[in-house]
Formats: sequence, C-alpha cells, structure tokens
Amino acid sequence: MKKVLVTGGTGLVGKALQAIIKEQQPSDEEWFFAGSKDADLTNAAATQALFDKVKPTHVIHLAAMVGGLFHNMNNNLDFLRNNLLINDHVLQTAHEHGCHKVVSCLSTCIFPDKTTYPIDETMVHNGPPHSSNYGYSYAKRLIDVQNHAYYDKHGHLFTSVIPCNIFGPHDNYRPEGHVIPGMISRMYELRQQQPELPEEQKVFTVYGSGKPLRQFIYSLDLAKLMIWVLREYQSVEPIVLSVDEAAEVSIYEVAEAIAAAFKFKGQLICDTSKADGQHKKTASNAKLRALLPDFEFTDFKSAIQSSVLWYIENYAAARN
Ligand code: NAP
Ligand code: GDP
Repeated sequence: MKKVLVTGGTGLVGKALQAIIKEQQPSDEEWFFAGSKDADLTNAAATQALFDKVKPTHVIHLAAMVGGLFHNMNNNLDFLRNNLLINDHVLQTAHEHGCHKVVSCLSTCIFPDKTTYPIDETMVHNGPPHSSNYGYSYAKRLIDVQNHAYYDKHGHLFTSVIPCNIFGPHDNYRPEGHVIPGMISRMYELRQQQPELPEEQKVFTVYGSGKPLRQFIYSLDLAKLMIWVLREYQSVEPIVLSVDEAAEVSIYEVAEAIAAAFKFKGQLICDTSKADGQHKKTASNAKLRALLPDFEFTDFKSAIQSSVLWYIENYAAARN
C-alpha cells in the first residue's frame, strides 16, 4: 500500500490533486492532504509530528510561501527563509521516515534572468534569477541541490517538477496572489461596484504594460501530470510541466480572456507605472512530450472560462 502525503494539500494545486484523486484513486493508494492547520512546516517538531501521524511512503511536497510579483518584490527575505525552512524540514523528515519518493515543486520563475530561450531543465542554476523574486528562487533552486545530495548520500528518489504559471479553482484571490486570480477578483468587484453606471463606461486596469509573456497551465492538468510523475517518473533530475511554447500568451491577452469569460463590456487599460517583472520565461516541455506524447492540455480560454465560473459560484468560500 502506498501512503501519499501531500504538503500544501489545501492550496491551488493541492485542491486540484484532491479533485483528480477523488475521480480515480487506485485501491493500493491512500492519500492524505495536509494544510498549515495540520502542521506548520517551518517548525521541525510539527513536521515530524505530521509524518509520525501519517506515516507516508511517498510525498508530494507543494507547501510553500507563494505569491505574485508584487508580494515577492516586497518580501524576498521572508520568501527565502520560510521556504528554506519548509523544504529542509520536509526533505529531512521524509528521509528519516524512509519515504521511497518525494516530488517537490520548483517553478519556471526561478530560472536565470539573463538566458537563452526556451529554458529547459538543465539551466536552473546557470545565473542569477530575476531581482524581483530572488528569495523564492534561491530557496526553490536549493531543493534541486538537496535532491541530488540525498541521492548521493542515501540513494533516495527525491525529485522535482518545474511548472509554468498555474491557475484554476481554489486559487489565491488576495492582492498578494498571481495575475489570473488577481484579475478575476478585481474584475468581479468592478462589475459589482456602481451598478447604476453602464458597464461600457467602466475601466479595468491591467497592471504593467500588458506585454510580458507567460505560459499558463490549468491546475487540474498539472495535478494529472504530477500524479504521473509520482507513479512513473524515475529520475532525480527535474522535469518541466508546462504547456507548449506556442501556447504562450501576453498579459493583455489574459485580461481579454478574463473579460470575455465575464462578458465584461468595459474598457481595458494598462497602468505602466506598475512593474512588469520578468518579460518572459518561455520554457520547453520537450522532455515531458518525449515521455508523454499524447497528453492533452485544456485549452486556455475554456480553462479561464471554468475558473471564472468557479469563482462566481464559490465567491463566499474563495480565498478573498
Ligand atoms: P497556494 O495555493 O498558495 O497554497 C500553498 C499551500 O502551502 C497551502 O496548502 C498552504 O496551507 C501551504 N503552506 C504555506 N505555508 C505553510 C506552512 N508554513 N506550513 C504548512 N503548510 C504551508 O500555492 P499553490 O499555487 O498551490 O503552489 C503549490 C506549489 O506550486 C508551491 O510549491 C509553489 O511554489 C509551486 N508553484 C506555483 C505556481 C503558481 O503559479 N501558483 C507556479 C509554479 C510553481 P494553508 O492554505 O492551509 O495555509
Ligand atoms: P510572475 O509571473 O511571477 O511575474 O507573477 P504574476 O502572476 O504576479 O504577474 C505576471 C504579470 O502580470 C506581471 O507582468 C504583472 O505586472 C502583471 N499583472 C497585471 N495585472 C496583475 C494583477 O492584478 N496581479 C498580478 N499579480 N499581476 C498582474
């Protein structure tokens, strides 16, 4: 019997894993989804108590201090320290409990800022990350270093995935979150405000120039891929889990897709006084495609439509 502990099991990706596992849980797997209420993983004793309770054989390690561009820019020290602590506690406790496999989460935003494109798995450590999120980036890069060190010393299969930007139901809609939940929540509020004003006269603000480019993966697609990594992927080396390069969109196109999903009739403007962050971080999914050629990603516009609908239907319970 496999016992899978998901740290960060209450977040965007954790909830997507819960949904997929609910649909197709094999009888030889038992899953436990832990949030910060189950254990504060910045605390070593609490981490050990969680592992003592669950006794996992496998771990999907999602728990992290996570935030969008603006939250990262102002809190690099906290992103660095919290994530270093969480990762060290989870990996060392998994080692002490004899876990067979740990799959941790890196991100395409931790790659070198000055690089050639597309970026791939071999380039994680090639140069400094973008200055806006160096705290988060260096903490995440060290997971890869730790995975190799655990393999060298103990032969453990501790590995990592590198997702591109993620979105979907149960996202973080607070101002410290990422662009898609941020825009969904701001457009929702704009539509509620001043009901007497014709919507054609309302103005929605895109932060920054709208020109940066991003690849976005739907959280439910990522969950399916992470389950495949847990069951089938047998290497310590990280693997990029991203949509194709051709699916990259501009931030302005994201705003247009969200506006279409809301049937918003107002105007979109860009506020160039706000930061753009990295211009792009185009990643190659060639390694994934070679291993899993037939995987079908959900079309971006329909995934945005489902995410907006989820938010409207679950507004009261959402992380606002
Ligand atoms: P999220 O929605 O913000 O969820 C974060 C999760 O981590 C929550 O379950 C939270 O628990 C838990 N957590 C945070 N601090 C904790 C602590 N001190 N102790 C225990 N648990 C703690 O994040 P997400 O978007 O699902 O991200 C999942 C993983 O994907 C992260 O490793 C992130 O770095 C990576 N990633 C995310 C993106 C993205 O665009 N979102 C892109 C690339 C990679 P509670 O909610 O119960 O407090
Ligand atoms: P990143 O992909 O790590 O840079 O993080 P974000 O998802 O926070 O931001 C992506 C891009 O979206 C940046 O260029 C932001 O300037 C832009 N953006 C536009 N509107 C928003 C918004 O409402 N929230 C956030 N977080 N970013 C926004």
